[in-house]
Amino acid sequence: ILTGEPVLTVDGLTVQFGALKALDDVSFSVPAGSIMGLIGPNGAGKSTFVDAISGFLPQHGGRVLLGGQDLAGLSPTRRARLGLRRTFQQDRVPPLLTVGAYVRFVARRRLGGADIAETLAFFGCPPARARLSGVDVGTRRLVEVAAAVLSRPRLLILDEPAAGLSHDEHLALAARLRELPDRYGTALIIIEHDLDLVRSVCPMLTVLNFGTVLASGPQDEVLGDPDVVRAYMGE
Ligand code: ADP
Ligand code: MG
Repeated sequence: ILTGEPVLTVDGLTVQFGALKALDDVSFSVPAGSIMGLIGPNGAGKSTFVDAISGFLPQHGGRVLLGGQDLAGLSPTRRARLGLRRTFQQDRVPPLLTVGAYVRFVARRRLGGADIAETLAFFGCPPARARLSGVDVGTRRLVEVAAAVLSRPRLLILDEPAAGLSHDEHLALAARLRELPDRYGTALIIIEHDLDLVRSVCPMLTVLNFGTVLASGPQDEVLGDPDVVRAYMGE
């Protein structure tokens, strides 16, 4: 499953805020059907990376390819239609909708009721008829992930999916995320502070530091990399 064309190729990506290079010549690729953790200290450029890849920020250099297609200049909506979806760090789920109305809105494709029910159940979400106003923050995060998965993306980027979850919800989410590539054909990039979650879910890792890639590859190689140990682990 890790052979063949990468689902995402990032080549020399540079994003600036004025004189500050928040991303400086960032290059790595995500194999199709894989789960990659994106880690690094605060300010390393993780959110900038997600915003640039998903089309919410302009890039100042380099190329981003989704399954070989150059995404330059495409809007977030166009990228989503091509199969690149993301969730946000902040809670964006509107409380007035039902769970079912929300996932239909987010998925932006015709969905069968059985399809919706299956995915909601898989993620341990309330049923489609439930009102989001009655759903706690942690569970709303699960609904957000379920909604993104229902759009059947080729690549789903999750920005801190465990934020706001209890320890038990956190373990349950980790178990489900591990199954996503086989179950729904979705590759994942997971941005996460919690190294335990990253270790248990992500076979591949990329470490950002001051806008550059310190290391990218299989988890054991990356976590054993002397540059990573020094810069990221603070040892
Ligand atoms: P991370 O998500 O890894 O914590 P960010 O991508 O949020 O890092 O930030 C990377 C760098 O870019 C930081 O130095 C941050 O201060 C800067 N930065 C992020 N967003 C903006 C912005 N909108 N305007 C100016 N500087 C920004
Ligand atoms: Mg961030």
